[in-house]
Amino acid sequence: MAAERITKADNLVVRIEAENGLVGWGEATVAPTMTGDTLAGMVAAVRQHMAPRLIGADALDRAALAQACRGSIEHNGGAKAAVEIALLDLVGKHLGVPSVELVGGALRRSVENMWLLGNPDLAADIAEAKRKVGEGYGYFKLKVGVKRVEAEIEAALQARAELGPDIKLCADANTGWNARQATQYLRGVEGAGLLFLEQPLPNDQIQAMGGLNRLGLLPICGDECIAGADEVLALGQAGIVGGVNLKLIKAGGPTPLLRAAALCRQLGLSVTLAGKVAGTSISAAATLMVACASPVLDWGVNLTHVYLAEDAVFDPLKIENRQVLLRNTPGLGVEVDEEAIRRFTVS
Ligand SMILES: [Mg+2]
Repeated sequence: MAAERITKADNLVVRIEAENGLVGWGEATVAPTMTGDTLAGMVAAVRQHMAPRLIGADALDRAALAQACRGSIEHNGGAKAAVEIALLDLVGKHLGVPSVELVGGALRRSVENMWLLGNPDLAADIAEAKRKVGEGYGYFKLKVGVKRVEAEIEAALQARAELGPDIKLCADANTGWNARQATQYLRGVEGAGLLFLEQPLPNDQIQAMGGLNRLGLLPICGDECIAGADEVLALGQAGIVGGVNLKLIKAGGPTPLLRAAALCRQLGLSVTLAGKVAGTSISAAATLMVACASPVLDWGVNLTHVYLAEDAVFDPLKIENRQVLLRNTPGLGVEVDEEAIRRFTVS
């Protein structure tokens, strides 16, 4: 990230085993500064509030079970998401269908995945981007909001010049600016062809963010200010954002996320879907599932398993020709390495 170097991932993994031996997997990353979710909090939410509703229940009631789990405790979107994902994986395996069929079906079979650029210096960002283009990437998110605004503008213009017109670029300030800095950036990067600027201002400056969106220089994408349908409706209708970054952990699972995505379609908002850094291919497969079922997905996805040194599945999702392909296998489509899960278990 622009403001921090992340060297480890604390993730909740939910494993639901059915009486017939089938197992469903779900996952959520911690997000203390985004949703307030910590590992200990998520584990307690699942063990104390959700597991009692699931143990002994019929997994085929998965929609009602997921809803009951969502109603069992306030907040804790990560824990709620991990449980619903595990139910969808389990039921998909039982019915012999990809889980995407249980959330409305696939509107697309592949999605474009972006790579995050957040090096301390511009030359390193450019070198990394060029290496990633060689590995099949064509879409980059510049993590901004930390260096001087002039330097961030220069980085965007330079990235465009070095990478050429065919590469997609966007920027995310993670609430790091004030309105004056963000306006300076929006004017400065006019020649860089960015798709959008994500969350330039903190959540206590929503009206000022609307002012930035209404400048019409770049669409403002809401991330930290958007959890699910309520915020999409409020901020979308007010013209405060031109698009949103939806995450399973913020929305509280696939069902509420897709409800928010449907509203985006109605309001004419753009959509990007992302994981927090860094989930394994379990949560990446879940994000891919909702990305393929979302009525809008014009800003691609940001899957985060690609930043891990080691995955927890035998067959991690691959990026080929800029795209991640939806798998046509029952459940989420990833085979979890239980030995790896045991090795990584901390609580
Ligand atoms: Mg963001």
